[in-house]
Amino acid sequence: MSDSATIQKQSIETSNAIVDRAGVNPFRDALVDAGLLIPTGVQGLFGRSGQFERVVDGLDALITRLGADQNAEVLRFPPAMSRTEFERSEYLKGFPQLAGTVHSFCGGEHEQQRVLQCLERGEDWTEHQKPTYVVLTPAACYPVYPVIAQRGHLPEEGRIVDAFSYCFRHEPSLDPTRMQLFRMREYIRLGTAEQIQAFRSEWIERGTRMIDMLELPNSIDLANDPFFGRGGKIVARSQREQNLKFELLIPIESEDRLTACLSFNYHMDHFGLLWGIKTQDGGVAHTGCVGFGLERLTLGLFRHHGFDIEKWPQKVRDALWGNA
Ligand code: AMP
Ligand code: ZN
Repeated sequence: MSDSATIQKQSIETSNAIVDRAGVNPFRDALVDAGLLIPTGVQGLFGRSGQFERVVDGLDALITRLGADQNAEVLRFPPAMSRTEFERSEYLKGFPQLAGTVHSFCGGEHEQQRVLQCLERGEDWTEHQKPTYVVLTPAACYPVYPVIAQRGHLPEEGRIVDAFSYCFRHEPSLDPTRMQLFRMREYIRLGTAEQIQAFRSEWIERGTRMIDMLELPNSIDLANDPFFGRGGKIVARSQREQNLKFELLIPIESEDRLTACLSFNYHMDHFGLLWGIKTQDGGVAHTGCVGFGLERLTLGLFRHHGFDIEKWPQKVRDALWGNA
């Protein structure tokens, strides 16, 4: 084997080292044994059972009821967005390590032969893949901003959008609460600084009420996003100093570690400036969002109320499926 082939083989072996291995995370193994999560061979990439999905659907409906008075406009996108808009979002400045880009084979028959040869020899075939104009959605609110920006100035009362998407983050982990593809429901507020602040305080309260209804232990804490690199540490500190991100935390995967299940974000004029979103009087719009992690909430319910939904407290069942 040539030197470069050896290096390629090694790199494939290294990447195989991060494929899923059972028996290391007890909570994950219990979920898999119960059939709630179905392993695929890749860390953080699971199938879900019917019972798991019943809980996700119940949570989704509960969030809809909690936000019924918001006059939110429902917008749904596939779990991918325009690469051009993704580039504009500056996600690569903050979180290059988490991004997922879609690459495709764009060659002719000659290149295909090379791909097939690489596969046969166990060599890296992916260098023949080329980037497409599709990027995986990193958070449910990202595809929304360009769409709202295109409509011109916001009305005086601003806007609230209801979004729901599978999101991708490249953070393979044995911890089942840290997935690579998971669903996020969001309410996104666009308007003046005051409108966003009021929205966020209101949702910290509502989110807490929701989790209390589900009889899950919870607390609210100041948080920061995992900004990349040394410069990122400074950005994260500044995010904390300005109280821009709060999270609702629930102990799930282990008793002594809290997992963020809801997040309450104030972006100030960051997205307003990037996409040219304007308030009615022509000022730069501020934005904020509340995000609900549906898999994490579902896992929290299984952790605290057991794997048998029929045995969950009646109040919890009513909150999830009472109106069904
Ligand atoms: P964030 O944009 O990081 O604040 O994420 C919003 C919500 O998505 C979090 O509060 C979590 O509930 C959920 N979430 C974030 N990352 C993951 C992940 N890797 N796996 C599952 N859920 C996640
Ligand atoms: Zn968001």
